[in-house]
Amino acid sequence: MTTTATAAILREIGEPLTLEEVQVDAPGEGEVLVRMRGAGICHTDATGMDGTIPLPLPSVLGHEGSGVVEAIGEGVTDLAPGDHVVLSFGHCGDCTYCNKDRPAYCEMFAPLNYFGTRMDGTVTMHQGDEDIHGCFFSQSSFATYAISLATNTVKVAKDLPIELLGPLGCGLQTGAGTVLNVLRPETGESIAIFGMGGVGLSAVMAAKIAGCDPIIAVDINDERLALARSLGATHTFNAKETKDLVWEIMGVSAPGVHYALDAVGTNEVIRQALESTRTPAVVATVGFQGLEHDITIDQGHLLVGRTLTGVIEGDSNPQDFIPALVEHYANGEFPFDRLIKTFPFSQINEAFEAANSGAVVKPVLLFD
Ligand SMILES: [Zn+2]
Ligand SMILES: [Zn+2]
Repeated sequence: MTTTATAAILREIGEPLTLEEVQVDAPGEGEVLVRMRGAGICHTDATGMDGTIPLPLPSVLGHEGSGVVEAIGEGVTDLAPGDHVVLSFGHCGDCTYCNKDRPAYCEMFAPLNYFGTRMDGTVTMHQGDEDIHGCFFSQSSFATYAISLATNTVKVAKDLPIELLGPLGCGLQTGAGTVLNVLRPETGESIAIFGMGGVGLSAVMAAKIAGCDPIIAVDINDERLALARSLGATHTFNAKETKDLVWEIMGVSAPGVHYALDAVGTNEVIRQALESTRTPAVVATVGFQGLEHDITIDQGHLLVGRTLTGVIEGDSNPQDFIPALVEHYANGEFPFDRLIKTFPFSQINEAFEAANSGAVVKPVLLFD
């Protein structure tokens, strides 16, 4: 039996999303039908809409969903109808890297997140005879109901505002996980974080949890820098107004910071992040500027013991890391709700506009 849902459909690259009625499959083996309560908008959704990442059309985006389990498919043992869940990125749960507790590097990451179909090529959403690609990040959560996999469906406590928790599944996990799972600073070590979007601001909160000092935040928007300061940044720099940014950062934590995190992805920022560190040091780049985007670095800056690494999804195992972030949130140490502005699902295109213009850090769509 199918479930009738309203989905925001991308029919043409560069066009607004249209709210249309679709039929969602009953959950198959290993699948979960979720009634969506909230869905965050992440930069990756925008790159799907503008064609930066190739997607099959028509497609339903959305990969920071949260809601309530409506039904479970065969073989799903850890979830039951009524459970509150946060949806994260798709991973198979049984490849070399999933078995090493590193599902962000799942060998099936591309098909499970970008192909828009199940592994057998079928789709989860239909409109009459038409296939609607509804497996974006194994969820397509810009819909009132969607199908996820048990592997990427994370149960959370019921005493929390479930409609706000979706961004923990991607953007917030990316920033916080890169600090807590990859860089792993010790108390009192220094960090510089470039780009104060949802990812960078989550990294600031995580750096504070880790006990970093100083925590240096860089952006070109003074409002974002003020927000960073209120979330734990000890020093902030407006990159547009700072004459020699690298020199200034090194001055705060001579002879350079222990760690740097780039949440922008441009050549200039990656170079600045690398050059701001002491030696040895680790620099993580998580910003995405599109496929075939070349960067250049001075090899001499690497030779001195610096590591430059890319990170996907904070190298997190969402089944462990999302509950950990929820606990930090409940303790008041990870107040990510301060990044959020909510919009009714019907205003999804306005919400994208607010994200793309920078007016809102993290729009979250609310479903009735
Ligand atoms: Zn896997
Ligand atoms: Zn994302």
